[in-house]
Amino acid sequence: MLGFPLPYSDELLYSVIARHGVHSGIVSPKELLQEVFGDTKVIATSDLPGHLKQIAALYPHAIGRTSIELLYNHTLFPLYAPFIGERRRKQLVYQLTENIRNSAHVTAGVAASRIKQPEYLRYCPGCMQAQYSRYGECYWQRVWQVAGTNDCAVHGVLQSSPIHRHDMHRHQYQAACFKICPVTEQQAGCWQGRLIASSIEALLNCSLVPVPELVQWGDWYQQLAIEQGFCRGKQIQHELVRDKVVGFWSLEWLASLDLLPQSRESCWLKSIFRKHRKAFSYLQHLIVLHAFLEPGWCFTEVMQQVVSSKHSAKVTPSQLAVSDNTQLDKYRNRWLSAVRRYGTKQARENGFGDVYARLYRHDRHWLIAINHQHSVKPDKHQTRLDWRRRDSDTVRELIQLRDATEQKLLLPRRSMNWYLAQLQHKATIEKNLKHLPLCRLFFDRYCENIEQYQIRRITRTAIRLAIADETAKRWQMLRLSGLSEDRLTEWARTFLKEVIGI
Ligand SMILES: [Zn+2]
Repeated sequence: MLGFPLPYSDELLYSVIARHGVHSGIVSPKELLQEVFGDTKVIATSDLPGHLKQIAALYPHAIGRTSIELLYNHTLFPLYAPFIGERRRKQLVYQLTENIRNSAHVTAGVAASRIKQPEYLRYCPGCMQAQYSRYGECYWQRVWQVAGTNDCAVHGVLQSSPIHRHDMHRHQYQAACFKICPVTEQQAGCWQGRLIASSIEALLNCSLVPVPELVQWGDWYQQLAIEQGFCRGKQIQHELVRDKVVGFWSLEWLASLDLLPQSRESCWLKSIFRKHRKAFSYLQHLIVLHAFLEPGWCFTEVMQQVVSSKHSAKVTPSQLAVSDNTQLDKYRNRWLSAVRRYGTKQARENGFGDVYARLYRHDRHWLIAINHQHSVKPDKHQTRLDWRRRDSDTVRELIQLRDATEQKLLLPRRSMNWYLAQLQHKATIEKNLKHLPLCRLFFDRYCENIEQYQIRRITRTAIRLAIADETAKRWQMLRLSGLSEDRLTEWARTFLKEVIGI
């Protein structure tokens, strides 16, 4: 085809097709589909689009655009490929390049993933202004659409456009422009978001390296735990792993992604350090790798190690470099003041878990000696005090959780069980609630009941519709919220009538 636009750097293929519509003055979505695919049933997919051979063939032969090049540079495929094993990677390549209906979201593991996909196409106002001054037009970038990152590494927090990524308007390609992506002031975002965003960028540009098998990833992580001194015999000390990961990223940030390691056996963080029975997402891998490796680690090198070593995780010398003495002193001092304040056990649960893990790895003899000096034999009085402390520590953790998740409209019902499941010592807390009056008070006051949850679901739908500038009848509103007239509670009924007005 003459004049099909060449993709810009990091541009989604979805965006290239949308720009083609704009350049050729095609207004009808079906006409655009007919022109590009010769088929009006194709679904406008932004993350993992198919029919790539057909799109590659739209370019003149001399330019040498191939379906594989489009796949790696203009879709979100590179985020999934390294973690699903070679057989599934090949399957996914086949599904996305051939002219067939595909189930790519299932093959890539997106459909089953616990990582919530963004609902709308997102944009970075700063990047868009730069695009416009450079090219005279704007386009959708890949890095803006990745679940788990809410920030542009350069400019700040990403904004949501009104364009749905899935379901509604399934056949329409919408080009990015300042009308639907207004330039608003951007907030700075958090350091965790920026760090993940820069790793995502590296991952998206890490093309065509050999892909490890799932079992190799599992072996490599186990070896990593051994090398870090987090094993007793062959047993991985999962508590130490958790301390290190939470100490690095913070409880609130992990909870906001629904990735807070939990106490139950099936917790994802425990599973990633065991034999891998299923694939883990890029986000889970990045969370562990950043927490365990020294700054400046490189993803391609990690992949090469995992692929080439059968059972050994050789971490490069820089990553294993023993800390120099000044750093060691800093950690010793922090641990000393922590044990004086909280005692040896509680110190780890009060934000000093990473210090403990670091010393356990590099300075174990000193750590054991100091802990021995500061350990107090429990007596009856002490046990009673411990409950009081456990109560206030847990309630503080619960309040942090509540604050971190309050604005998350998509979460499941925040019932007592939900809160308990997020805690490290779920079983102990659940069994001993009679000793924990503050926790009981918290659950009484802040757990979400059925009425509140129904109202949250209706609110969620109403916001979605308002952003898309659409209206819905009462039955549509109920269906979109997963509710029915029969199950509707009195409060929710009143809310629909008085606030939504239907
Ligand atoms: Zn930006």
